[in-house]
Amino acid sequence: MKDGEKGAILQRDKQTYAIAPHFPCGVISPEQLRRIADAAEKYNVAATKITSASRIAIVGIKEEDIDNVWKDLDTPPGHAVGLCVRSIKVCPGTAFCRLGQQDSLGVGMKLDEIYHGMDLPSKTKMAVSGCMNQCAENCIKDVSLVGKKAGWDLLVGGKGTGKPRLADTLINGLDTDQALDAISKVVNYYRENAKKGERIGVMIDRIGLDTLKDAVLS
Ligand code: SF4
Repeated sequence: MKDGEKGAILQRDKQTYAIAPHFPCGVISPEQLRRIADAAEKYNVAATKITSASRIAIVGIKEEDIDNVWKDLDTPPGHAVGLCVRSIKVCPGTAFCRLGQQDSLGVGMKLDEIYHGMDLPSKTKMAVSGCMNQCAENCIKDVSLVGKKAGWDLLVGGKGTGKPRLADTLINGLDTDQALDAISKVVNYYRENAKKGERIGVMIDRIGLDTLKDAVLS
């Protein structure tokens, strides 16, 4: 079975698989947690593991059990492989954090609804942080928002893998509608102008930040 088929990834033992259900912005209900715990016990898996994309991976599932585990979980898989938007990492923001200056969770949920799994020229990671502490690791995300008193800063072009690159600030002081609109323009520009496999940061290094900025502001 190919990696990603049935939302499963072959593990190091070359015999069992890991799956990771998708919980937008890492928000999981007690009922969903129970289903994961029940499935882990029922199928005698090797481990449950919190991932860097704020998911819970269920590790060490036999191939013949995968369909039944998904049925028991009743939750769609997270997009963990392929050229697409893999994850939207989001901090609690003004919903819960006393330091929050913007509603990162609310905006993150909207981004997740629009972009999670969207096919793009390369793997893409997004993030939203409610204040300048950037607990969602904006600096190494392809597209992200940082909440400040004056609104959102839009950062682009960060990445951690290969040759790491810190994100550039593209625009400051956006309200939420403007931020969502600007992200849509960045994504469209990226889809139309990047080479296959080229991360946003690599595209920026090729075309220049001002070119992208002009396209987004025009
Ligand atoms: S980035 Fe700011 S608002 Fe978000 S969790 Fe960290 S400190 Fe709180």
